[in-house]
Amino acid sequence: MSISEKTVLIVGGGLAGLACAIRLHEAGARPLIFERSDGVGGRVRTDQLDGFLLDRGFQVFLDAYPEAGDLLDKDKLDLRAFRPGALIYQTSGMRRVMDVFREPRHLMESALAPVGSFADKLRVPSDLAPDYAPPGRALVSVSVLGIVESGDLESRVLAELDAWFGGAARAWRHLRTYRIERALPRQPPGSGFTGPGFRKEADVYLCGDHLWSASIEGAIVSGLRTADAILKPS
Ligand SMILES: Cc1cc2nc3c(=O)[nH]c(=O)nc-3n(C[C@H](O)[C@H](O)[C@H](O)COP(=O)(O)OP(=O)(O)OC[C@H]3O[C@@H](n4cnc5c(N)ncnc54)[C@H](O)[C@@H]3O)c2cc1C
Repeated sequence: MSISEKTVLIVGGGLAGLACAIRLHEAGARPLIFERSDGVGGRVRTDQLDGFLLDRGFQVFLDAYPEAGDLLDKDKLDLRAFRPGALIYQTSGMRRVMDVFREPRHLMESALAPVGSFADKLRVPSDLAPDYAPPGRALVSVSVLGIVESGDLESRVLAELDAWFGGAARAWRHLRTYRIERALPRQPPGSGFTGPGFRKEADVYLCGDHLWSASIEGAIVSGLRTADAILKPS
């Protein structure tokens, strides 16, 4: 059977499934995606709420990702650059940790300046991409690791932010909480990046970030390698 006669059933429209489908489609096969949720994208999805754009998992695309970089249309994605660095909260206050050689000014320095409230200045991610919030508003995104009982999470996060930002966070409006089960596969340093990037049993292939690396790049690599294996079985 030639490849153009092949229909490949793909279960899951996350990045791995989508990458696999694109490569198969480009080769002339007919991929058919079955997605159980209400849209494709998997762990990389964005919702709109009252003029805000809410990422279900705030995603940083490293422009050094080789295969994702080749597959994705970066112009259409309209990527915005982060300034390199982080603010670390300690009991003594905020500390800036960053690559001082790579233009660290504006966002980080203004966030630390002793004038005005911190909350007035912390505008991530809407400082990077204004579309994330309506005009004159700011979107602050908080990620919490671990499992916290329902209902308790928002109050605990607000209490923490209150301590960090001198009470300014009390005026912030909570928009939405996403609980992402199995957010990332456990991949301690040194693991991942081994093997073919997929598993195969009879005519069924398994792909996903857990089979290469827990990232946009890892999911795409796994999907592409799976497609290559389907197209040219060894
Ligand atoms: C909060 C968060 C932040 C992240 N930040 C970054 C980052 O900054 N940079 C980065 O590179 N990576 C980041 N990642 C990792 C990256 O998002 C994932 O590695 C990648 O999206 C995984 O893609 P996947 O296709 O392997 O799996 P998934 O995205 O999980 O896709 C699986 C899909 O299969 C569907 N599905 C499952 N079972 C069935 C079924 N039985 N029938 C039909 N459909 C089914 C699911 O609904 C889903 O759509 C982040 C992840 C999270 C959760």
